[in-house]
Amino acid sequence: MNETTQSGIKKVRSHLTQNESLLFEISSPGKKAYQLPELDVPAVDPEQALGAGHVRSEIQHFPEVSEVEAIRHFTRLSTYNYAIDLGLYPLGSCTMKYNPRINEVAARTEGLAWAHPYQPDALSQGAMEVVAALEAALIEITGMDAVTLQPAAGAHGEWTGIMLVRALLESRGNARKKILVPDSAHGTNPATAAMCGYTVENVASTSRGLIDLAALEKQATEDVAAMMITNPNTVGVFEENIVKAAEILHARGALVYMDGANMNALVGIARPGDFGVDVMHINLHKTFSTPHGGGGPGAGPVAVQKDLIPFLPTPRLARRDNQWTWNYDLPQTIGKVRAFYGNFGVLVRALAYILAHGGPGLRNATMDAILNANYIRKFLEPHYELPYTSPCMHECVFSDDRQAAKGVKTGDIAKRLIDYGFHPYTVSFPLIVHGALMIEPTETESKRELDLFIDALISIAGEVDSNPELVLKAPHMTRTSRVDEVTAARKPIVRWQPGPA
Ligand SMILES: *Cc1c(COP(=O)(O)O)cnc(C)c1O
Repeated sequence: MNETTQSGIKKVRSHLTQNESLLFEISSPGKKAYQLPELDVPAVDPEQALGAGHVRSEIQHFPEVSEVEAIRHFTRLSTYNYAIDLGLYPLGSCTMKYNPRINEVAARTEGLAWAHPYQPDALSQGAMEVVAALEAALIEITGMDAVTLQPAAGAHGEWTGIMLVRALLESRGNARKKILVPDSAHGTNPATAAMCGYTVENVASTSRGLIDLAALEKQATEDVAAMMITNPNTVGVFEENIVKAAEILHARGALVYMDGANMNALVGIARPGDFGVDVMHINLHKTFSTPHGGGGPGAGPVAVQKDLIPFLPTPRLARRDNQWTWNYDLPQTIGKVRAFYGNFGVLVRALAYILAHGGPGLRNATMDAILNANYIRKFLEPHYELPYTSPCMHECVFSDDRQAAKGVKTGDIAKRLIDYGFHPYTVSFPLIVHGALMIEPTETESKRELDLFIDALISIAGEVDSNPELVLKAPHMTRTSRVDEVTAARKPIVRWQPGPA
């Protein structure tokens, strides 16, 4: 790399930069990655076994490579990715935490990993105990009355929660029409409301990024079923007005839904059940030890106050003759929202994480996450515009206002950050901050890593002043630089086609 693009960069970059061909391109006929012993049973004719027409004699253009070639190919590809194991992953709102490896061991314990949901109750007592213990722990952490572990992810938890709201209001004679959503809400909130058949009405935020209570007073009419509140909200600020907002809504017969995806900012410090929340979801894959972002399974447990318990998804755990069993006799349930009882492996990780930390340990993790975010906020404040100046919770949000004056946008700064060896922060979200840089460090980052990250962003702010072109053309140290993101999203080419050799 040349001097200008390399200067001042302290971060170690561990990426090899070899070019990798497609497996199809290194294929040569007759190569194999496996060897099977000679058959010692009579061979079956596939045509006879499967029926004529179901057997391919040849798969055209299928890659043929050796074992070593296959292993090297996929191992090299795996080095193309940035990962939480390589460095800070500061994506705000998504909470890309380090998840203790030991909980992977817990989830792979033979009796838990191989338990089948159709096993009789008598053979599933241990797995059911895990479910019961996790429900109890989440009840304690949230201060709510009951928890269902069935929903598969955050947005699915939201949908379950709003269906519960609808069921309760229907039982009271009127499901109502509207859901209020602050303009700082996560995008899944209005989508959920619409999926559940409600119209969405926006509530403005104050200049401090909090719910505008005067606006809420006017908007909380008899038509409103609930308000969905993300807390801490998407500008990383705790909704100080939540108790007042809940009082206003409850007085009009409406419920309070809390999006608790970012519960990692509250665990051990504040309990939604104590500040007026009726129903909420938690993302186990953000806060409680399931790796998030690989597209793998997650879990979005929903916690409710007692009025909503009769409507929870079926079945519910119950105690009978000193044993755990499933109770399907729930006349008012909204039904099942997921096959069986939820993503069990994720539940095991969450329980292992909670028990290993204990109350004081969980509280410490929360305090460290908040400290880290505020540390970054303070050091970057002189260099980037901070639209909401209140102390933040687990993430801080800047805007690119000062850099935009030089023609450099949040997306350009994020691309340049890649040259410094960091994954970009969340770009252009939340929408109420123009040109947002949304940064969440999480609790496990050391002071050293945070300092490197801060240095990188300060250095980039300097480059924007002295040499904006450098930032506008970044990244310089990756295999590919700028790609056409719109075409990549709208017209993805997901299948290799044999072309002229
Ligand atoms: C991540 C997130 C969600 C959605 O969770 P998924 O598991 O991705 O469906 C909802 N709300 C907030 C605030 C989030 O951060």
